[in-house]
Amino acid sequence: MCSMCLSSPCHPRCPNAPEPVAIFMCCKCGEGVFEGDKYLDTSEGQICEDCLDDMTADEWLELFGESLAIAEKEEM
Ligand SMILES: [Zn+2]
Ligand SMILES: [Zn+2]
Repeated sequence: MCSMCLSSPCHPRCPNAPEPVAIFMCCKCGEGVFEGDKYLDTSEGQICEDCLDDMTADEWLELFGESLAIAEKEEM
């Protein structure tokens, strides 16, 4: 058993744990996405959950090829 996290195998956050191997890199921040992480598969690449959290509505729409319409008052 590991003396730092008292688990076997090590807890993933334990400094003694083996370096996790990134399955792929996030296309926005370049950070690795690891087994069990959530991500979004897009036509431009995979985006990690952290980046998804930071995205604005505009960025989301851009991702899906949409854009916000500007509301205009209709002429009577
Ligand atoms: Zn450990
Ligand atoms: Zn990212």
